[in-house]
Amino acid sequence: MSNLLEGKTALVLGVANKWSLAYAIAQAFRREGASLILTYQGERLKKPVEDLATELGASRVFECDVTRDEDLARLSELGRLDAVVHSIAFANREDLDRPFVETSRAGFALALEVSAYSMVAVARAAAPLMSEGGAMITLTYLGSSRVLTNYNVMGVAKASLEAAVRYLASELGPRKIRVNAISAGPVKTASARGIKDFSKILSAVAERAPFRRNTDPAEVADAAVFLASDLGRGVTGDVMFVDAGFHIMGL
Ligand code: NAD
Repeated sequence: MSNLLEGKTALVLGVANKWSLAYAIAQAFRREGASLILTYQGERLKKPVEDLATELGASRVFECDVTRDEDLARLSELGRLDAVVHSIAFANREDLDRPFVETSRAGFALALEVSAYSMVAVARAAAPLMSEGGAMITLTYLGSSRVLTNYNVMGVAKASLEAAVRYLASELGPRKIRVNAISAGPVKTASARGIKDFSKILSAVAERAPFRRNTDPAEVADAAVFLASDLGRGVTGDVMFVDAGFHIMGL
């Protein structure tokens, strides 16, 4: 522990279980001395996330489904915030299983709403709480800029999310609020299991990435600590790859 986040309060959206990237980030933030506020999506996750919040010593935990304006409004009622972690994405299973060209209008809109627009809505609610400046961090994936089989509409949503990061960073920079994305390598989480043949992606990365292995969620979490801490004070609008180096590889 080096107390990089001592005295800071962080809101973490997107913990569903112990495998969630948001959980690894919350653990690292806690290790570095941050005070935590967690949210969960829907009644089904209430008890499990409350249990994880207790284990993490979080000061608050409450429901926030990003498709509901009344839930998003609760974010504006929090006190001072120094960091926000947005670790949320969703697409209908059928849109990840069938050819991309078959994506429905409703499926496209839902994926973009939950996975990209929600970052804008969260930023709008959280920015006024960052009176001393702060850091917003979201999670993205290489499928935003490269074609990865079966990632489909999620790739389009991640491209939108990364563009949103740049526009938010530009607007919030004068208020000393930094906005960045971490592009994580594939990690076996509940969301990742929704992608057909995900295990083939894991094997391809382990075979070809410079590190010849997959990404450890703790590596993603430590990058988030850097971005949330004063060490990251010079960085905004960026997409930081934490993916065992896979993104640099050609043939
Ligand atoms: P996860 O399933 O643990 O987390 C996804 C979270 O999104 C869950 O907590 C879920 O409740 C939440 N969510 C979905 N719809 C929501 C809604 N309407 N309102 C509020 N919350 C909602 O999986 P994860 O892999 O930890 O995903 C976290 C983030 O990391 C996502 O943005 C994902 O795209 C990104 N990411 C994951 C990987 C990977 O391989 N696992 C790689 C790169 C980026």
